[in-house]
Amino acid sequence: MPAVDRFELAAESRELLSEAEAVGGDLANLAAKSPGRVNRELIAALAEAGLLDHLLPVDGQVSALDLCLLRQGVARQSAHAETALAMQGLGAYPIVLSGSDDLAQRWIPAVRNGQAIPAFALTEFAAGSDAGHLQLRAEPDGADGYRLTGEKAFISNAPDADFYTAFARSEPAEGRQGISCFLVEGDAPGLSGEALELVAPHPVGTLVFEDVAVPRSQMIGEPGRGFEVAMRTLDLFRPSVGAFAIGMAETARNLALNHARKREAFGRPILDFQAVSHQLADMSVEIEAAKMLVYRAASAHDRGDKAQLTSLAAAAKLYATEVAQRAVDGAVQILGARALVHDHPLAELYRQVRAPRIYEGTSEIQRNVIARELSAGRWPS
Ligand SMILES: Cc1cc2nc3c(=O)[nH]c(=O)nc-3n(C[C@H](O)[C@H](O)[C@H](O)COP(=O)(O)OP(=O)(O)OC[C@H]3O[C@@H](n4cnc5c(N)ncnc54)[C@H](O)[C@@H]3O)c2cc1C
Repeated sequence: MPAVDRFELAAESRELLSEAEAVGGDLANLAAKSPGRVNRELIAALAEAGLLDHLLPVDGQVSALDLCLLRQGVARQSAHAETALAMQGLGAYPIVLSGSDDLAQRWIPAVRNGQAIPAFALTEFAAGSDAGHLQLRAEPDGADGYRLTGEKAFISNAPDADFYTAFARSEPAEGRQGISCFLVEGDAPGLSGEALELVAPHPVGTLVFEDVAVPRSQMIGEPGRGFEVAMRTLDLFRPSVGAFAIGMAETARNLALNHARKREAFGRPILDFQAVSHQLADMSVEIEAAKMLVYRAASAHDRGDKAQLTSLAAAAKLYATEVAQRAVDGAVQILGARALVHDHPLAELYRQVRAPRIYEGTSEIQRNVIARELSAGRWPS
């Protein structure tokens, strides 16, 4: 008889999820202190608690499943702490995946210790979904370097990051073929930026590159192959955006369930009304289905199944973020007016749950990816 997969997390994975949730709870107050800007104290505390060791293991073997469990667990308690944790990974993974040993030795231990703050700089005002048409220019500067000129927008951790894994057009080729990835230090002469304030506080901003010199040794991967570095990073990261969304959805559902048990209307707990209980039932089914998809995508990454990874990662991100939006909205409905008071946890979730449907590829772009993979015969059987 072949072994039957039980579709359940192993004990050590469940422990990691609980550990992440406990750390998220411990750090929630610290995380709420300066939510729209890089919070170095929070990042040092995430390192101190050991979570960044799981994010960036010393052996370099990044586990997508661990990344998902960390994000899901921390998100149950604090979206701000979750964002800080996730960005330590997103900005650093291009180096882990494709950087030279020198770059990895210089920067990865510092990111893991919470001493260096990275950022992933792909998007521009004129190139969001269509990132392959980005315009930041990297012009050769003698034999050993480049000069970068142009702008980036909506970059998490900008303008306060210690370094940026920045994508720039270095080759004459058109579109995604001509892009390279560079490590640009935050204090590089000619680099500046401004913070942007979003509806849900998130450290994010713009960058302006004015003739910024970058040595050739700070290129990540091959010249002209930077877009592949970005896409490989996103294949790893997209399921984990879904996991972040699931963590928020679980909290919203639990708040709604507890409230529905206690709140009475028309002489009985509102949980007795089928309109309320069925909404909680639907939420729970969707959250469970989203978890399956996220964990399946993560395990495709971890076993090196490149054929299925792109489609599963897109499906996981698409479905889990849409489920979380419905769950949070449904929970707000069940709590009624009190959920809309500014400092209520659900009001915060209502603001936070929106952005994941946009960043790292909008829901529409995920559908495009899935359709492309389907038509190429790469949908999992
Ligand atoms: C909180 C936050 C953090 C972010 N952090 C980062 C970061 O760290 N690094 C980074 O590089 N970027 C980051 N971004 C930027 C993010 O990745 C982009 O916003 C995203 O890729 C979408 O680009 P856009 O906003 O320019 O929308 P547009 O590309 O202008 O899209 C507008 C609308 O058109 C639709 N659309 C566009 N093309 C198609 C198509 N082919 N088919 C169907 N529909 C289409 C989109 O789905 C969307 O609904 C962040 C964004 C946010 C909100």
